[in-house]
Amino acid sequence: MSKVKYYYDSETLSYKKIEQKKGRRLGIILLGITGSFLGGFILLMVYLNIPEIETPKEKALKRELKNMELQYGLLNKKMDQIQDVMANIEDRDNSIYRLYFEANPIPDEQRMAGFGGINRYKDLEGFDNSKLIIETTKRMDILTKRLVVQSKSLDEIAELAKEKGNLLSAIPAIQPVNNEDLSRIASGYGWRNDPFTKVKKFHYGMDFTAPRGTPVYATGDGRVVRADSRSTGYGNHIRIDHGYGYTSLYAHLYKYNVRRGQRVKRGDVIGFVGSTGRSEAPHLHYEIFKDDKRINPINFYYGNLSPEEFGKVLERAQRENQSLD
Ligand SMILES: [Zn+2]
Repeated sequence: MSKVKYYYDSETLSYKKIEQKKGRRLGIILLGITGSFLGGFILLMVYLNIPEIETPKEKALKRELKNMELQYGLLNKKMDQIQDVMANIEDRDNSIYRLYFEANPIPDEQRMAGFGGINRYKDLEGFDNSKLIIETTKRMDILTKRLVVQSKSLDEIAELAKEKGNLLSAIPAIQPVNNEDLSRIASGYGWRNDPFTKVKKFHYGMDFTAPRGTPVYATGDGRVVRADSRSTGYGNHIRIDHGYGYTSLYAHLYKYNVRRGQRVKRGDVIGFVGSTGRSEAPHLHYEIFKDDKRINPINFYYGNLSPEEFGKVLERAQRENQSLD
């Protein structure tokens, strides 16, 4: 309720009520409405131009956020580079290392696989930057998995390399007698005239002429499985089992330097050249078996021959002469 106001009328000498003028009242109402609009408008402007009224703390937070986005961008660029390097390693792994050691290449689907099943990124959801953070984390996770797959592959390769190393030191790979000028190769593998009957007969090994007593070497790592004269024609002979299906045989020996069952390394002296058994003159008859079949030893001297020397060996071994048996 508004107060009723009075004034003193000096003409009538009495108090009279002050009547509010209608026009003035309207003016006040209009002013009120205009004021409200103006206030609302100012508030709207303020709302639309937040930066102008940010507190220092908000400003700092915003700067920090911008910086974080920038850093995430840089991290993603670095991850691009790492991915490239990783892809290069994987490619070499599949097309060189695994190929060389006869292991199956690891398919891309296996290397690049993400993580199925439950949503691993639930905790990262529901924030303004969720997408950026989830995408980056996903890439990181896949990269980590690729590294694990690659690491396992290298473990496998290391194992295979070790096995290959064993294989390489086991396979016969040198000449069984010292033969620097290669003049000792007397007869090769193939059809040769028999020194006793003079008819053509297949000669299953290689003959090296050398004086009686010349050292004979094991041509690869292995175990002596025979050192006796109980095989017709070979006289005193040694057989070494190299594993992987390879056996080497050294015949017509004068003396043994090893016993049956003994383990030998490539280059060990196992016996001495002689002319025991079916032999025309002192020489070493040398054979190589692969899976119980005799094969040409000429292909097993790569261990200590240059290409030129190998050519010379080949030429000498192919002469269709008489074998010493
Ligand atoms: Zn021979």
